[in-house]
Amino acid sequence: MNILVCGGAGYIGSHMAQWLGEAGHSVTVLDNLSTGHREAIKWGELVEADLLDPASMERVFSARRFDAVMHFCARSLVGESVRQPYDYYANNVTGTLHLLEAMRRHGVERLVFSSTAAVFGNPVSELIDEDHPKAPINPYGASKLMVERILADAADAYGLRSVALRYFNAAGALSEHGIGEAHACETHLIPNALRAALGTGPALKLFGDDYPTPDGTCVRDYVHVQDLAQAHALALEFMDREAGAHAFNLGNGQGFSVREVIAASARVAGRPVPHEVAPRREGDPARLVASSQRAREMLGWRPVWTDLDAIIDSAWRWHQAQAF
Ligand code: UDP
Repeated sequence: MNILVCGGAGYIGSHMAQWLGEAGHSVTVLDNLSTGHREAIKWGELVEADLLDPASMERVFSARRFDAVMHFCARSLVGESVRQPYDYYANNVTGTLHLLEAMRRHGVERLVFSSTAAVFGNPVSELIDEDHPKAPINPYGASKLMVERILADAADAYGLRSVALRYFNAAGALSEHGIGEAHACETHLIPNALRAALGTGPALKLFGDDYPTPDGTCVRDYVHVQDLAQAHALALEFMDREAGAHAFNLGNGQGFSVREVIAASARVAGRPVPHEVAPRREGDPARLVASSQRAREMLGWRPVWTDLDAIIDSAWRWHQAQAF
């Protein structure tokens, strides 16, 4: 298939391009390189375009014919979204509308969309399944939920087939392929812990130890980026069988606290993770753990990376390689 990977120079998008390339698909990467990396594009041709510029989208879709689009372009930092909501709604909602309009004009009828656990807000149950109430508590989650609604309307009005995949905490890397999590300004827990261990970053700030969780720190569900790529590939097949707009939660179904992640990082690295307790970060729910039963049943998703230490080890290899 000819697949357009929007945001294919970024963390999850580059792992997707790797998966598609290995599977023999023809990949085109659309990216504005604002946060993505040219050197992460190894499995497809880059077209530089910006979702906020409809004319550039028109050029991309006029020049090529795509069977499906995978859409990873987004602003995705919870704290930043609280401080800069207009940027989040513009990039994540308006940008996506431009993409959807270009797809419609050019008869491209399949989309896999990167959504997030942040659409749920504060959980009301231990495990979050797809029917859990959606009440985002930050602009990032709200922007993704708006797009999910747009996709449902697009299915009714235009017959667009779509799958929204709600990632819990994407983690890990494929250092053997030279790709990993490389954010200029890193905000995520595992990379920050590993950089602190390596000495290439400052001591980790542990944001809040007074949450209503067993050890007082936030609990998250870490899922390997390669398992996320697997789910996207399965979503392509699913859309051959099923019309309409669908959404699936993607996580391992097991929660780890920030303190547990710090301990695992130290174990994997074989050295301590310097850290200090800091105030809570705005917009962080105490606990987010997925039920991915529906993805398993309906997509046939089978995550391979189910062990936290193995996930962190894959990230550790990548960070070590970056340090030299
Ligand atoms: N966190 C932390 N220090 C950091 C980065 C993250 O204590 O430097 C905490 C954060 O408050 C949250 C958890 O680690 O409770 C996971 O945060 P991350 O940014 O990795 O992912 P998110 O859950 O926001 O998508």
